[in-house]
Amino acid sequence: MSDKNLSRRRFLQQVAVAVPAGAMLLDKQAGAADMPKLDPADLAAAALLYVEDAADVDTSNPMAARFEPGQNCANCVQIQGEDGAAWRPCAIFPGKVVASAGWCSVWAPMP
Ligand code: SF4
Repeated sequence: MSDKNLSRRRFLQQVAVAVPAGAMLLDKQAGAADMPKLDPADLAAAALLYVEDAADVDTSNPMAARFEPGQNCANCVQIQGEDGAAWRPCAIFPGKVVASAGWCSVWAPMP
């Protein structure tokens, strides 16, 4: 095998290793900013009375009996991501972000 073919082979081997590693790095950097917003009409969201604004909680629904003004996603134990962000991941709805001002019937206070 010529030196030219050998270096070409080495180059291709290095690319084959580098591309998946780079893709994984980009995937980790994607974060909440690239996640879709949870649709309140989504079956799971609607079943848990999720709203994007806690002021819109249907307090006539028995599932909202524990709701009190001041409760929202930003102060729920299930919220993830960065404090102060308007949209953040939630442990209950993986792969989506929820409104920090929102609420659902799973709300529980932070310890
Ligand atoms: S579990 Fe908590 S953070 Fe998640 S949507 Fe419900 S209230 Fe918001």
